[in-house]
This record gives sequence, C-alpha cells and structure tokens, in this order.
Amino acid sequence: MNFDDTPQEAAFRAEARSWIAANAPRQYEAELRKSSLGRTRLKDANILEVAKAWQKKKKADAGWACLHWPKEYGGRGASPIERVIWQQEEGAFGKLSAMFIIGHGMCGPTMMAYAGEEQKRKYLPPLASGEKIWCQLFSEPAGGSDVAGLRTRAEKRGDDWIVNGQKIWTSGAHYSDYGILLTRTDPTSPKHKGLTMFFLDMKSKGVEVRPIKQANGQSEFNEVYFNDVKIPDSQRLGEINDGWNVALTTLMNERMSIGAGVATGFPEIFEFCSNLMLEDGPVIDDRSVRSKLASWAVKASGLKYTSFRAISALSRGERPGPENSIGKLVAGSMIQEVAMYALDLQGAAGVLSGERAELAGRFQAMLLRAPGTRVEGGTDEIMRNIIAERVLGLPGDIRVDKDVPFNQIPTKGRA
Ligand SMILES: Cc1cc2nc3c(=O)[nH]c(=O)nc-3n(C[C@H](O)[C@H](O)[C@H](O)COP(=O)(O)OP(=O)(O)OC[C@H]3O[C@@H](n4cnc5c(N)ncnc54)[C@H](O)[C@@H]3O)c2cc1C
Repeated sequence: MNFDDTPQEAAFRAEARSWIAANAPRQYEAELRKSSLGRTRLKDANILEVAKAWQKKKKADAGWACLHWPKEYGGRGASPIERVIWQQEEGAFGKLSAMFIIGHGMCGPTMMAYAGEEQKRKYLPPLASGEKIWCQLFSEPAGGSDVAGLRTRAEKRGDDWIVNGQKIWTSGAHYSDYGILLTRTDPTSPKHKGLTMFFLDMKSKGVEVRPIKQANGQSEFNEVYFNDVKIPDSQRLGEINDGWNVALTTLMNERMSIGAGVATGFPEIFEFCSNLMLEDGPVIDDRSVRSKLASWAVKASGLKYTSFRAISALSRGERPGPENSIGKLVAGSMIQEVAMYALDLQGAAGVLSGERAELAGRFQAMLLRAPGTRVEGGTDEIMRNIIAERVLGLPGDIRVDKDVPFNQIPTKGRA
C-alpha cells in the first residue's frame, strides 16, 4: 500500500480542492458536516433542490460530475483513483450526492455496458448531471437476498413487453424518473436463467409507487406495482433470459462504488463523549467509556486502512474485490452499537427523539437507520457468505434450487 499521491494525483487534488473552495454551497457546510447516518437534511432548504443545483449547475457544468464516465456520456474521463480523490476533497458536500448514488453507481454503469449508443447519449448525460434520477427495481417480497427468486413477469407482445408484478424496498422510486427493472421472462428455466433486464420511464402507465413509512418517520423507499406496464423491446438491456449476467454488472458496480470511507459513527461518539458531563465529572474520564472508545477507534482505523487497500488497488488499475464486503459488515454493526451506547449515556433522555432530544436526536436517528444499513446491498449473513466463499475460499452455501426449473421450485402456494 502506498498512501502518497503521485505527482499527477497531487495536481488533480489541488485542482479539485480549489474548485470546491470557490464553488461549493458553503452556507450548508456546517449542517452537512453535522448530519450523520439517518439524518441528512437541511433546516431551511429542500435538500433535493440543493443537491440537484450542486450536481447540475455547478459540478456537471464545470465537468466534475461522474468523473470516471466518458466525456460523451456526461463524465470527465477521469481515472478511478481521481474519482476517489474527488470524493475525499468533496467531503461533507458529498452527502448531497446520496440521492444520485444508485443512478450513478449502478444504473448508469449498467446502461453503459448494455444500452445502444443512441440511448447512452440520450439518457446518461442527464443522469450524470442529476437532472434525471434513476432507481434500481430488483428486490421483491419473494426475492431479496435471493434476487434470482423474483416473480415479476414480462411477456412479449409484438415489439413490446407487458410487465406485471411487484417490487419492494425501491430506494427513491418516489422521486425517480427512470429505473432499471429485473423481470422473469422464462419460468420454465432454472431461476438464474429465465431473467431479463429492462429500463423504463417511472411515469409509464401502470406503474404505481407507494412510499413505505419507516421507523424514523421518513419514507426513503417504496413498494412499486406493475399493472400491464408496456415496455418497448428497444429498452431491453442485454439478451432475453440473460438478465442475471446484466444484474451481476449492476451488483459488481455497487461494490465498485466505494466512497472516501464508510460511516462508522466513531467521530460522532468521540465528540459526544468528549463534551458530555455527568454528575461525577466528564464522561471521558470514565475508564469504561475510554475503553469502549479505544476499541471503536481500533475498528474505525482498521476500516479506514481496509478502504485504503481498495483505493491502492484502484490506483494500480485493479478492480477492488469482494473484500470490500468487510467494510459494510463491520461498519453496519458498529454504527448500531455506537448509537445504542450514546443513548445509554443519555439516560432517560435517550428515549426522546426529534429536535428537543440531546443533539437534536442525532443518535436516535442513527439507531433507527442502522438496521437498514445492515440489510441494504446485502445483509450481514450474505456479506459473510461472500467473504467466506470468495475471499477465504471456503465451500459454497448449499443452493438446492439452483438447477431446478423456476416453476418447479416448491413454494408454500404451490406445494
Ligand atoms: C435501506 C434499504 C434500501 C434498499 N434499497 C433497495 C433498492 O433501491 N432496490 C432494490 O432492489 N432493493 C433495495 N433494498 C432491498 C435489499 O436489497 C434487500 O432488503 C436485501 O437484499 C435483503 O433481502 P430481504 O429483505 O428480502 O431479506 P431476506 O432475503 O428474506 O432475508 C431474511 C433473513 O434471512 C437471511 N438470509 C437470507 N439468505 C440467506 C443465506 N443464503 N444464508 C444465510 N442467511 C440468509 C438474511 O440475512 C436475513 O437475515 C433495500 C433495502 C434497504 C434496507
């Protein structure tokens, strides 16, 4: 591992830093800096509008959007390591990109790999600039970890496909313009072999989006229903029944969307403990508190250097591997522990939430969001499977239905 910038990387960093200093929306910096997992919002402004303005009017117009994409599709043609440098320099303002992550990190690269040239030139630049938001329609009530078990059907009629079924947990579907959609097109083949991928306009007739109310009061994801939705064959991505390979491209890019580091809650808990006074003095003087902080500090720095390992791999022109799952697995449970500990320290006040709570409910919001972090993009158990099978080379999970035609797999309804 080499943490130093090459001369070329250093020059790029200096350019990015000075452009950000001159153009970033500084009026929101303090709020963005303070916001943590489960609580990114702006008190007096609509975050969606601020995010779109930063993405389009500033970044895209000056060539700083989707840096690693080719210029003709709205990017800058930068190297993957330059993209990481940009993310490090963008710092707190990067939190404004949260609503674009799925489009930029997954849908865009999938379109780039499988859409026709004309479609790429039409759809990718407004995706890069944040003018159009995209969502990922994979998970279903019967197909989450086992996404190949999905049941939404697409049937060919002439030059179109007619889609019926239901997706769930679709982040941002309620404000998305387009989505990539994985469907079942051949139920007589084994489950991974009868899938086909499409992209569609989320305003198409027959698409119904129902936001899901979460424990923290927000609605970040949705149920999406498809009732006889017509999708032209020209919006198919990849070959008929080869959707699993297209989905793997999407999921591989999810792994590639590494940022400047994963949220752990450590800076927040350290700051909280450093300032908290209890009846018998500053809480930071308590040995048990210091011991907890020390073990989290070790974990946080382990995660930081694990992400540096991935960044070093990018710098050498390699693709980060499944070991990135370690970051998600460790950080997901750590942030939950941190939030719980902070609430314990708050005593009875820990049960309050909202603006009147300690630190305006920062740790309460973190605690309510943390389980979602442990599930989205693969649950802890799935991350462990990936690490066991693909990093450690242990024997694979038992997959009894792998070669069985999908419509022969016994289910409760069918048995
Ligand atoms: C905040 C959030 C945002 C999301 N955004 C999107 C989105 O934009 N688009 C989208 O398509 N999906 C999205 N999802 C869905 C997410 O991908 C799924 O929730 C996730 O893959 C788990 O699937 P599931 O909920 O069906 O749980 P299940 O797969 O039913 O899992 C239930 C339990 O069984 C365990 N389990 C399952 N299989 C195994 C196994 N083989 N070995 C051991 N244990 C196993 C799981 O770990 C879990 O504990 C989102 C989820 C969350 C929480």
